[in-house]
Amino acid sequence: MTVAEMSAALGSPARARELIGWLWRQPALPRELPDTVAGVGRRVQASTSLSAPVVRERVQSADGTTKFALDFDGTLVETVRIPAAGRSTICVSSQAGCTRHCVFCAAKELGFHRHLRAWEMLAQFFVARAGAPADAPARNVVFMGMGEPMDNLDEVLRAVRVLTQSPAPQLKTRSVTVSTSGVVPGMRRFLEETKASLAVSLNATTDETRARLMPHTRIWPIAAVLAPLREEAVRAPKRVHFIEYVLFDGVNDTDADADRLVGLLEGIPARVNLIPHNPFLGSRLSPPSQARVLEFQRCVAARGIRCLVRWPKGREIAAACGQLALAGVAPR
Ligand code: SAH
Repeated sequence: MTVAEMSAALGSPARARELIGWLWRQPALPRELPDTVAGVGRRVQASTSLSAPVVRERVQSADGTTKFALDFDGTLVETVRIPAAGRSTICVSSQAGCTRHCVFCAAKELGFHRHLRAWEMLAQFFVARAGAPADAPARNVVFMGMGEPMDNLDEVLRAVRVLTQSPAPQLKTRSVTVSTSGVVPGMRRFLEETKASLAVSLNATTDETRARLMPHTRIWPIAAVLAPLREEAVRAPKRVHFIEYVLFDGVNDTDADADRLVGLLEGIPARVNLIPHNPFLGSRLSPPSQARVLEFQRCVAARGIRCLVRWPKGREIAAACGQLALAGVAPR
């Protein structure tokens, strides 16, 4: 619940803040609300439902990346915790399976099971943040797990609102990033309704290549996908947008691609994240050599666009981008 909703339910903003503050201080999702909490715990429990996912699997890779398979009453989703210097990032899923069919992503193999509710996205954060290294608490959330967030935007926006609300968990709005394969109407609404960060998975510099990699996006050519960012740049010139670009050997990794990419981003305060393709079983695509990745990065950065490489984390436990596909996890 948002603080406003809880305030209405309890008839007291002070109690609502106390209860919400207490809830987010718990190390694990509580099964019970003691009566002492804000003096109303049991009354709240009687009128709402308290449920928590079952952790079906928890695997950690050598670099500290941890992948969780969470079971919400028979619906399985994956969540990843990625530690870095000083903070951890929690990567949450917005759908079980995915409504889109990017040829390079393992999630498409699952098909689409169902949209997740906001509370299920929040529960992923709650479960995954516990166990973050003490010197790297979970301060960032990225909606980059399974699913296309713009196809489930009401619930995603609600989750963003709760994640950033005071008194808790109070993440910085720009530390919450929602990533989209480029669903244009959803992007416009998102930019209007929240200040959270938007990442667009561009992945190609020509419509032909993009249509091959991301067939469902054919109805929105690259120019249409970037238009909302360009319009937002006029309204909010300081708001930075993230462009995700998965690099595939011999498909979209030439110097000419790097040049076109820079051209496409003119007029957009953009940061580019390059992701060398993470292969998965059955994928015919492969990542470029490390030298090619670095040269592509150099080409983009030399033209004044901040460009980072997301070297794979958690690849050996299939927790890296595009590898979430619940291998071997069966619901009870
Ligand atoms: N559907 C949303 C959210 C998923 S984010 C979106 O497309 O943005 C997942 C990110 O990982 C996207 O940027 C996607 O392009 C990237 N990705 C998918 N499969 C990948 C793979 N096999 N290797 C590397 N990156 C991949």
